Amino acid sequence: MKVPRIVVVGSVNTDMVIKGERLPGPGETVTGGQFILAAGGKGANQAVAAARLGAEVTLVAKVGRDVFGDQAIENFRREGIRTDCILRDPASATGVALILVDRRGENLISVAAGANHALTPQEIDQVAERIRTADALMLQLEIPLDTVCRAAQIAAAAGVPVILDPAPAAPLPEGLLGHVTYLTPNESEAERLTGIAVTDEVTARRAAERLLAAGARYVIVTLGAKGALVAGKESMALVPTVPVNAVDTTAAGDAFNGGLAWALGSGLALEEAAVRQACLVGALSATRLGAQPSLPTKEELDGFIALHPSRGTNP
Ligand code: ADP
Repeated sequence: MKVPRIVVVGSVNTDMVIKGERLPGPGETVTGGQFILAAGGKGANQAVAAARLGAEVTLVAKVGRDVFGDQAIENFRREGIRTDCILRDPASATGVALILVDRRGENLISVAAGANHALTPQEIDQVAERIRTADALMLQLEIPLDTVCRAAQIAAAAGVPVILDPAPAAPLPEGLLGHVTYLTPNESEAERLTGIAVTDEVTARRAAERLLAAGARYVIVTLGAKGALVAGKESMALVPTVPVNAVDTTAAGDAFNGGLAWALGSGLALEEAAVRQACLVGALSATRLGAQPSLPTKEELDGFIALHPSRGTNP
């Protein structure tokens, strides 16, 4: 089986997580939670998700010259991710995310982007060859939009599939969707991009149609416990996930995207197999606490598929 080569251009954060009974409201203090320090950032999470499943991953990112930056790079090395395209910024701190999770797995997140916001389009030009020779490029929106656009342009011009997770939700610049092969919004991101309140399959279909018309080749709307809607110009289908007892959905979307890149790069067809695999990776990560700690290995995914034999197709 082919080992997919995946490039992720994205963010690196240090996640500080408190899991408590419930989320505080504005001005309120909730005590009694459990604290966890973990590596995070959507770019880093998606890189780790694909690497744990067996992809050869290069992460293009920027961190500070601080202890969190050192720890992040050391963590990527342990995960087998290529770190030669990770830059160090002397002027800003490594990104930090403060995450609160309640007993049902709902979360509140606040992010200080730091060095992530200093990654420039010119720096992407310097790694263009790595992007052109990849099986897929993964992008999210925790780095400057200019930088996202430049990476997408380079990949699209070379015929490399571009997976864009439009998270955190933000308006997209004119022309970006024309370079995107797979756009993967969740419900709230789909709503932010289209103005259509996405609450079920019917509204997800309507939003997907709008995003296809705006230029994305395929739109995959992730619908949490309902699975994912896969939409192309010719057809749309709802791909179910496996029902699980969700503990923390913080990185379910990142797990889904990493799983999708790995499955597509491994040669699985989009609807039938790749999205089903991505749903399983997302579901498995929702059963565990934290961002990167929740991302499954290939062996763990195989074990999960063995418990749900009708759902998985292994590459
Ligand atoms: P995000 O974390 O970006 O909001 P979703 O919550 O839609 O993304 O989750 C991404 C994918 O992970 C879903 O499409 C689904 O396949 C899987 N998933 C997430 N939550 C659950 C859940 N509670 N049960 C089963 N699968 C889930």
